[in-house]
Amino acid sequence: MQTLRINVVGLLKEPAGGVRDHVIQVAGATVALMAEEARPLRDLTGEVRLLRSPRSIFARVRLATDFALDCRRCLEDAISPVKLEFDAEFFPSVDVVTGLAVVIPDDDLAFVIDHNHELDLAEAVRQELLLALPMYPLCDPDCEGLCPTCGANRNADPCDCDDSEPDPRMASLKGLFGASAGTDRPS
Ligand SMILES: [Zn+2]
Ligand SMILES: [Zn+2]
Repeated sequence: MQTLRINVVGLLKEPAGGVRDHVIQVAGATVALMAEEARPLRDLTGEVRLLRSPRSIFARVRLATDFALDCRRCLEDAISPVKLEFDAEFFPSVDVVTGLAVVIPDDDLAFVIDHNHELDLAEAVRQELLLALPMYPLCDPDCEGLCPTCGANRNADPCDCDDSEPDPRMASLKGLFGASAGTDRPS
């Protein structure tokens, strides 16, 4: 299945307890549209199990992919594997037998199956993706970042810039050790 839309007309006609399993594979280019600045490195793949309940369809979603984000220190790629594991409930908007409109529960968390009986996982997946992506991506926990003087990437190119401008946190540490520690500033 190349999209996150699943036609559930057959499952809607079944009594509660009916189950369908679907294999999901969504192209990285499609995932990119949902993931803001994160860049998918491969397709989003996995599976979804749909379970008919008396009033709805429960979707149990298990998907994974890998993203590249900008490292917050050096701007190189920070690779982030993402696993999505969540359940969502989808309510029919029309009765599958009579074609009449169905009142959808007034619930912010409820998703709606459209009048063509298509269940669209895209919005639920988008919300989960944004929660799963790291807030502070780093290419490596020990990333040295960019030199504030010359802009060199210190991971690849340890430059010779004078780094004597004390970091304010270090300055206060030196204060703790007493004035005799002095400073690196040229006098
Ligand atoms: Zn980095
Ligand atoms: Zn430098």
